[in-house]
Amino acid sequence: MPGTPVNTATAGERTLNFWERLYLPEVFKGLGYSFRKIYNEPMYTFQYPEEQWYPPDSYRGRPVLVEEEGKTRCVSCNLCARACPPMAISMKSQEMEGPKEREPEWFEINMLRCIYCGFCEEVCPEEAIIMSKEYDMTFQDREEAIFGLDRLMVPKERLADRLDWLAAQRNPDSQGAWAHRHDNNHHSLRESPFLASLAADLAHA
Ligand code: SF4
Ligand code: SF4
Repeated sequence: MPGTPVNTATAGERTLNFWERLYLPEVFKGLGYSFRKIYNEPMYTFQYPEEQWYPPDSYRGRPVLVEEEGKTRCVSCNLCARACPPMAISMKSQEMEGPKEREPEWFEINMLRCIYCGFCEEVCPEEAIIMSKEYDMTFQDREEAIFGLDRLMVPKERLADRLDWLAAQRNPDSQGAWAHRHDNNHHSLRESPFLASLAADLAHA
């Protein structure tokens, strides 16, 4: 019947004693517990931004492009853009002289879309895009949040922590098949002996 109090206590539920029913003693007990923790426990908070947090190597901050000898490792294969769930990555490829053959003419990541999932890092066959430790980004407008090559490329020396961590995470059962090899950064078909032999075969056909 509406307005009739119903006792919802379960069987065996603890009943409050006199002091607990007074309520205030329990409040002071709780405050005492909090103050004991404040003085006896290590501090977990920072005076941000004066004090900065340095994340562990496993941390996924904003994605960056690895710069090696002044150039990006990226071969503009588009895999990261296809894998990116919020479609934050876009690029335009261009052919180039030399064995690498392709590189991005422009490469952009919309940091307002990025969800820091790390899929781009996982799929990249060149270890060209990896997650950095940078987490404090602010933008004045939406255009500012679109990072081009100028802001995405970071020298690999500054990314050594993450690159070492990635190397340590590789499955040893792959027997190095997933290790980044610098000489493998040249996906050259032009210089491939296979193409030369194919051309010779065709010439004799
Ligand atoms: S971290 Fe995830 S969301 Fe961000 S660019 Fe890479 S794939 Fe896209
Ligand atoms: S997956 Fe790697 S190599 Fe391919 S376009 Fe993305 S960053 Fe470049």
